[in-house]
Amino acid sequence: MAFHVMLIPTLGCPSNCSYCWSSKPDSPVMDIQIIEEVVKWLKKFREEPVTFTFHGGEPLLAGYDFFSKALPLLAKSLAHLKPAFALQSNLWNLTPEMARLFAEYGIPVGSSLDGPEELNDLQRGKGYYQKTMEGFKIANTNNLQVSFICTFTSYSINYKEDIFNFFLENGLNLKLHPALPSIRDENPEKWVLSPEEYGELLIYLLDEYLDHMGQIEIKNIDNLCKCVFTRRGTVCTFVDCMGDTFAVGPDGSIYPCYRFVGMPEWVMGNVCDHPTREELAKSAPWKYLQEFKEYVDENCKRCTYIKFCRGGCPYNALARSDGKINGVDPHCTAYKTIFKEITKRATKEMLGSATMGLDTDSGSEEKSKKGIMTLMLKPS
Ligand code: SF4
Ligand code: SF4
Repeated sequence: MAFHVMLIPTLGCPSNCSYCWSSKPDSPVMDIQIIEEVVKWLKKFREEPVTFTFHGGEPLLAGYDFFSKALPLLAKSLAHLKPAFALQSNLWNLTPEMARLFAEYGIPVGSSLDGPEELNDLQRGKGYYQKTMEGFKIANTNNLQVSFICTFTSYSINYKEDIFNFFLENGLNLKLHPALPSIRDENPEKWVLSPEEYGELLIYLLDEYLDHMGQIEIKNIDNLCKCVFTRRGTVCTFVDCMGDTFAVGPDGSIYPCYRFVGMPEWVMGNVCDHPTREELAKSAPWKYLQEFKEYVDENCKRCTYIKFCRGGCPYNALARSDGKINGVDPHCTAYKTIFKEITKRATKEMLGSATMGLDTDSGSEEKSKKGIMTLMLKPS
């Protein structure tokens, strides 16, 4: 099974998004020596293919020099792990030189936009939209592929039609993200979408997606359909991520995921010590997340969707309970809603094609909305 190492060159970020939980002003920037240690650490860590995602904060703050050394180091010295790369960035600091480097390594870039300029800047700060769009132009002219993550908040949900049309009309693919509460925030609930709102949003986007098939790509909907079809999780949220996902902070500290970076109580080890998997498994965070897994086994055991939901994201669950294990991912209701809907429609579609020609009710709107099987079978 492939594993995932998120590299967090810094938690610093030049933007100041209202609901951000992952940036930290004055965060140090990773030295290239930490990447050299990552290489030594992973040489004998596992045999399976690895994906490295540069995440932040804003990873481009590490600069061209850092990436021009880090990428060949990781790609050549760990060639036996067939490394793949990804990058998550607001693109503000993207230069043509950097874009060419990332394109050379075939790195898909995820960026963030919350919709049309006015709405985006209200949530992410004045001037954000223009700066990201300038970076997007640089990416485009240098053959760098960018897709966007759109964060829906308790505010922007009221403009979901405008947001969907914005992405559709501009030919931008998207992945949606419900605003999360933060473990570190003093007012963690302010922007958060309720599970019911999130469930309804997923169904709305499923409908729009089916109506505009071939014109836009909505990654989460693809993934949700695939989870139902294959009966197993296809993204980290719906698998037991512990043990297959790691994040490395600017100082080389190893965490279970980028969402925990910067919180000392979640440090499992340091790349400079080259810990084995067994050594990491003895750390308190690993054991704690193992407890979460056991909690899910017990508390979700009667759920139809347990195999491909696995209690959702542990970070989401812990963020809601001040770090205590006393509930699963609060989006549970949303997951159940969308899994149920996809299952219902897929069954209907399959039965529909089996009885084609026998059905006289040809006018119903739901009947004409086909394509869920196409999404289920869509190549990744
Ligand atoms: S904690 Fe959540 S975001 Fe992080 S790897 Fe696990 S499921 Fe994914
Ligand atoms: S949908 Fe809810 S109850 Fe079912 S496995 Fe996921 S979190 Fe657990």
